[in-house]
Amino acid sequence: MASCAFFFFEAEPLREAAGSHAPPALDACALCAKPLARNSDIFMYRGDTPFCSEDCRYEQMHHDAAVARQQASSRRKQQQQAQAQAKRSVHEAPPSRAPVSAKANVSVAS
Ligand SMILES: [Zn+2]
Repeated sequence: MASCAFFFFEAEPLREAAGSHAPPALDACALCAKPLARNSDIFMYRGDTPFCSEDCRYEQMHHDAAVARQQASSRRKQQQQAQAQAKRSVHEAPPSRAPVSAKANVSVAS
C-alpha cells in the first residue's frame, strides 16, 4: 500500500510546485496539494478535508485506518505486556544480582 501511494506521488508533477509555498488550504487537495478547480469535483473527508479525487481521499482514509489500527494494537500489546509482567512478578522472584556482579568482577580482573 505504501509503495502504491509513493508511486502516485511520483506520477504527480504538480505536487512540488503547489506544495512548496502554502500549506494545503481548502482549495487544494490535502494529500497531493493539487489545486482544486471550483468547477471540478471535490471529495470531502471528515467534514473539512478536501481531496482532488476519490483515490486521494481513499489513500488518506486508508492511512488513518492503518494508524488507528496500529495505535489500538500497540495499546493492546502494552496492556498485555503490563498484565504479563504483573503476573510474572507475582509468581517469580526478582532476578538475582549474582550473575551481574560476577561478570563485573571478571571484566575488572582482566
Ligand atoms: Zn489529490
